[in-house]
Amino acid sequence: MLEMTPQPQTAPASPGSTSAFDCVFVAGVFVDAADARLSIKANAVSYGTGTFDGMRATWNDERDELYLLEPLAHYERLRRSANALNLPLPYTAQELVDATVELLRRNGAREDSYVRPLLLLADDVLPVRMHDIEARLVIYASPFPSGYIPTVGVRCVVSSWRRIPDVCLPLRAKVIGSYVNTALAKTEAIEAGVDEAIMLNMAGNVSEASTSNIFLRRDDTWITPAVTEDILEGVTRRQVLALIAEELSEPVVERTVDRSELYVCDEALLCGTAVQIVPLVEVDRRPVGEGRPGERTLKLMDTFAAIARGESEPHRDWTTPVYASSA
Ligand code: PMP
Repeated sequence: MLEMTPQPQTAPASPGSTSAFDCVFVAGVFVDAADARLSIKANAVSYGTGTFDGMRATWNDERDELYLLEPLAHYERLRRSANALNLPLPYTAQELVDATVELLRRNGAREDSYVRPLLLLADDVLPVRMHDIEARLVIYASPFPSGYIPTVGVRCVVSSWRRIPDVCLPLRAKVIGSYVNTALAKTEAIEAGVDEAIMLNMAGNVSEASTSNIFLRRDDTWITPAVTEDILEGVTRRQVLALIAEELSEPVVERTVDRSELYVCDEALLCGTAVQIVPLVEVDRRPVGEGRPGERTLKLMDTFAAIARGESEPHRDWTTPVYASSA
């Protein structure tokens, strides 16, 4: 199913980057990015019709290895997203992991990287609809952008934009067009002089941040919005649930979270593929806890970083080595 074309010899795009990342995967074939054209008349361009996912690969210099973090979980979510939109995805999750390993190898990626699969309604079809339009799978990789979010402590505001409810579109699917909702919230937060937005759902309960899930600690109990609170069911959220139990031996309750709990909690963190785990130090100009990163959060960050670099024996199964798996 996956056609292998000769590996292009690529030059780095910019100083500091080891690869131009200009080999991409389009509908089953590896091609040069310059040849992977999407028409401006494509349905997805006008309406955001399609779904996507995103995963991370972490470079480990000592081991001379690049580790993908739970790629299978991300592709299983892509399959579920496609199903929620009733779009065909003619690959198994494992085939897509294999294609991603091959893509990173062909690009010679030797730095922290981000992998973005997209299932796009790619035909030049004008009417707004989901059916009878080619759904094209593309995957590309890029260097992970630096400075995505401050890792030393994130300042947030509660957004005036509410999180789109699941009755309007399937929120468990990463629907491309739905990200205008979070983009508005993120920009509002940046314009307010802080780093990130926390979105409430239509009921006024805490939902999530723009591209991350949220955990609060009140005394010795952690709290996170339940999956029915209009959140994306994050892969990192699931990992953090496991790590809080294993590393901190503290309980986590998945429930409705009131806005005012943000103001009275002892510690808070955001988690997601892009942000990984970061401490929340301020919400709506109020300090979270002592107004500095919580010690438990710092411990979780260290553990998570070691896992992502493939250096932790526990949860080694969360990582897929890109180069060793070619042997
Ligand atoms: N919520 C939203 C809206 C997101 O876009 C993301 C990023 N995928 C997350 C939460 C975190 O999910 P994950 O841990 O799977 O990256």
